[in-house]
Amino acid sequence: MVKGTGHAAFSGIAIGRAYVYRKQQNELPISCGDPAIEQNKFNEAVKTAHQQLQALFEKTKEELGEEQAMILDVQMMMLDDLDYLESVEQMIQDGSSAAQAAQDSGDTFSTAFAAMDDAYMKARAVDLKDVSQRIVQILCGNQQGTIIEEPGILVAEDLTPSETVQLPKDKILAFVTRQGSANSHTAILARIMNIPSLVQTDIQLNDELDGKLMIVDGFNGTYYLEPDEDTLEQMQQKEKEAAKERVQLEAFRGKPSITRTGHKIKLFANIGNPEDAQAVLEGDAEGIGLMRSEFLYLGRTSFPTEQELFDAYHSVVEKMDGRQVVIRTLDIGADKKVDYFGLQPEENPALGYRGIRICLEQDEIFRPQMRAIYRAAAYGNVCVMFPMITSVWEVRQIKAFCAKIQEELKAEGLPCGNAQLGIMIETPAAALISDQLAEEVDFFSVGTNDLTQYTLAVDRQNAQLDKFYDPHHPALLRLLKIIAANAHKAGIWAGICGELGADTTLTEDFIRMGFDELSVSPGRILELRKKVCESEATPNERISVCNHR
Ligand code: PEP
Ligand code: MG
Repeated sequence: MVKGTGHAAFSGIAIGRAYVYRKQQNELPISCGDPAIEQNKFNEAVKTAHQQLQALFEKTKEELGEEQAMILDVQMMMLDDLDYLESVEQMIQDGSSAAQAAQDSGDTFSTAFAAMDDAYMKARAVDLKDVSQRIVQILCGNQQGTIIEEPGILVAEDLTPSETVQLPKDKILAFVTRQGSANSHTAILARIMNIPSLVQTDIQLNDELDGKLMIVDGFNGTYYLEPDEDTLEQMQQKEKEAAKERVQLEAFRGKPSITRTGHKIKLFANIGNPEDAQAVLEGDAEGIGLMRSEFLYLGRTSFPTEQELFDAYHSVVEKMDGRQVVIRTLDIGADKKVDYFGLQPEENPALGYRGIRICLEQDEIFRPQMRAIYRAAAYGNVCVMFPMITSVWEVRQIKAFCAKIQEELKAEGLPCGNAQLGIMIETPAAALISDQLAEEVDFFSVGTNDLTQYTLAVDRQNAQLDKFYDPHHPALLRLLKIIAANAHKAGIWAGICGELGADTTLTEDFIRMGFDELSVSPGRILELRKKVCESEATPNERISVCNHR
């Protein structure tokens, strides 16, 4: 047995087989200089792609039926498409590597398909891209995604947010990484998924690790490889006790979140993807306090269309069935990188071109998002909020843009709803002028993750600085007080959607400060409600009754 340690990013016990996550290689191999060899590599890759697709076809047919499997049949036929094969051959003759030729030909043909009037051919553009990507991945020596046959524990050097969103969530029992910070978006995603996770572990990554029995103890940041019987038994016992506690928390399901003194607070949940809305209902959250739109942009190769964004927002709004849904516009930048945005490398990305700064400068990115949000607002209770605000002029510009979008939609006769308009308070500048900002908006939601980073000048991604990243720092708590008081002075509501909102050692302080809403990972709601229901706290900073529209 090997016992190792790391930092626990989310609690819980997981027992299962280890899967080593291998990074996709993004750089395409260059040509060896001999077109005949490159052509041979390409032909071999096509054969492998054929075998992979045939295996997937059989599996899909068995599990989901012939109709669903037909798409793979179509993809197999594409591998024989003469125009595509000729284009690759020509490019190889002209000096391209097999991978480059496969990628460029795939791009050219899928763009041509997408531009066709015929709806069927248009839809095939995605398949063609998929097929050529499969060949490129084979030529790069990559697997097609991380293949996890049965639920297991994912072990990686590190995971970026865009890698994490592409993983098959239902097959992951726990995350274990060698690097990473507990404040990173990957750790946040693990919390939303409600699975134990360890970062900064001392685990040795090698091929022998694959398939070994492993235990992750997210309560104390320990893992075991090939555990002995005693340890396995102890851990199973620990999991049973944790399960018992979860059962006890069930007493708070469906209960109002009211303190013993009769004060009510809203307990909402954070989500990354539309599918997480199911976890919100299962967690018994009263609404969604933060939907991070940027996850709709990660793990893709092109911008989502307005319709795709609308479908995503609409599905969440419908699922929430009248409960409030706070959608945050995209916060791309810093650790959340997307190649197709074409952003320049930056010295200090956390202080760089990110979040609202991109939206305010690029209409073509902001417009489809805002149109999709206002269209979805016609079907439920939607609020929209904007990240990384530092100034009043930004908010005024956003408000003018939103008004224009609403008029545009109405003029086009498209359904368009109203949405409360709020901002994230996650920069010290916004906190300090929150009295002025409160005059402009309907609500505040405090992003304590970034507010901590920027107030303390501690990079939240830098694991080496974890001990300096202290959200309990008096400077932070002082800012939180100011924000809540300024919100209430202006008659608007204020919530917390950063990770600190789930810190039950501060719940009573948040109530005393007057926060109206806490938005946390769906799996933390019942625990938080227990804390609220057992508390005697009442707001003592309340200046005027807040306006819940
Ligand atoms: C925050 O900064 O606290 C927040 C909620 O936003 P994110 O973690 O996505 O930056
Ligand atoms: Mg933030």
